[in-house]
This record gives sequence, C-alpha cells and structure tokens, in this order.
Amino acid sequence: MNIILLGPPGAGKGTQAQRLMERHGMRQLSTGDMLRAAVKAQTPVGLQAKAVMERGELVSDEIVSALIGDGLDAMGPDTGAIFDGYPRTEAQAGSLDGILAARGRSLDHVIELAVDEDALVERITGRYTCANCGKGYHDKFEQPRVAGTCDKCGSTEFKRRPDDNEETVRTRMAEYRAKTAPILPIYESRGIISRVDGMADMDAVTAAIEGLIAD
Ligand code: ADP
Ligand code: AMP
Repeated sequence: MNIILLGPPGAGKGTQAQRLMERHGMRQLSTGDMLRAAVKAQTPVGLQAKAVMERGELVSDEIVSALIGDGLDAMGPDTGAIFDGYPRTEAQAGSLDGILAARGRSLDHVIELAVDEDALVERITGRYTCANCGKGYHDKFEQPRVAGTCDKCGSTEFKRRPDDNEETVRTRMAEYRAKTAPILPIYESRGIISRVDGMADMDAVTAAIEGLIAD
C-alpha cells in the first residue's frame, strides 16, 4: 500500500506516519527528515537546502523528487510507503506518478489532515523529538510518561527544529496555501483523496485513518 499524508505544517503527518509504521510495517518517506539529514551531513544537497529551509520556503522540486526516488529504491518492493511532506507542488505530484509507475507502484490513498490554521502555531512551537530515536513529542499535547525520558528508547536527549519558530511557521503556511493546497484537486479528480479531522485527538485521528485504509 502507498499512502500520501497531506496537510499544512503541524497537521500531524509525522505523528500519524510513525503510528502507521509501527502498526503496518510500512516505511515513512519524509522529505523534511531526508533534507535535515542532508543538512546535518553537509552534503551538496544539504548545503543548498539549508538556508531555504531556515526561511520556511520550498526546496527545489528536482532535489526532493530525487530524494523520494532514492528512498523508494532503498526499500523492499513489498514494503508500503507513507509519503509525508511530499508532494508539495503540482510538479512534485506529477513526478511522483512517474516515480511510482517506474517501480510498479501506485497510490492507494491520499489522506488530507484538515486543521484550523490557528492551532498550528501552538502545535509547531511546542513540538520536539527524541534526539536518539526521533519519536515526536509536544510540550502540551504529548509529554513523555516519565518527564525528560523518551518513552520509546529511554534517551534523555531531545531536540527542537530551528525552523519551528512562529515567524518561519507563517511562511511555511503561506507556502502550503499557495503551492500545496492546489494539488488537492488532482487527487480529488482521481477519487482517491479522503479528509480526516486533524483537530481531533491523536488517537481519534489514527482510528479514522485506520478505518480508511481498511476499506
Ligand atoms: P507534521 O508532521 O504534519 O508537521 P507533527 O506530526 O510533527 O506534524 O505534529 C506537530 C505537533 O503537534 C507535534 O508536537 C505533535 O505531537 C502534535 N500533534 C500531532 N497531532 C496532534 C493532535 N491530533 N492533537 C494535538 N497535537 C497533535
Ligand atoms: P517538513 O519537515 O515537512 O516540515 O519540511 C521542512 C522543510 O523542508 C520545509 O519547510 C521545506 O523547506 C523543506 N521541504 C520538505 N519537503 C519538501 C518538499 N516536498 N518540497 C520542497 N521543500 C520541502
């Protein structure tokens, strides 16, 4: 199964992708995570992407589509993919069709996480992750069971993204509205998109997604 999780920054795509991976053995392909790894490793792609990401703008379609192709090639052919944060433009949506077809894959579901924009700044500025295993947390909405210790791996190191500040979030939302929201009709016309209430609590969102993919 191949699924796209679509929604503005902070909608809950990464949170739900982690849960799908745990439940179904699927693989999350997050272009944001891949780009952050490239920035950290100071690869040529990372050096090119760093400033763009810090501003909250979009990295070039060619770069992210190449990352997705490589990510799929590194997976077993029978492992399902969860696209998180890709595609983000009409050009990327077109590229994804070709990338999937070339590998004998096709899209099963596009799931839109619908959220009120007002809630997103609070979600993003409170977001942090385990520095060791990457599990996501939130200052208010998802705290570790034992304060300061990761539920999943026991690490006591956590990190926050440099672009998770209010100013950058506003740019990222504007990019979403201008460039990403216009791809929704592409998937609507194919009849493969479903909308989930991303304002519901995390478990309710997970249950709604499970219901959709079980159909
Ligand atoms: P995205 O990957 O779409 O940018 P995340 O999954 O990282 O978003 O979620 C952003 C933040 O909001 C995280 O800190 C996460 O814990 C929290 N979060 C995710 N889903 C919900 C929800 N349904 N209700 C409240 N907080 C949520
Ligand atoms: P994310 O982790 O999805 O919030 O992405 C973080 C940042 O990485 C974005 O603000 C963009 O600068 C860049 N990025 C991630 N995915 C894409 C993509 N599909 N297209 C262009 N830029 C991307």
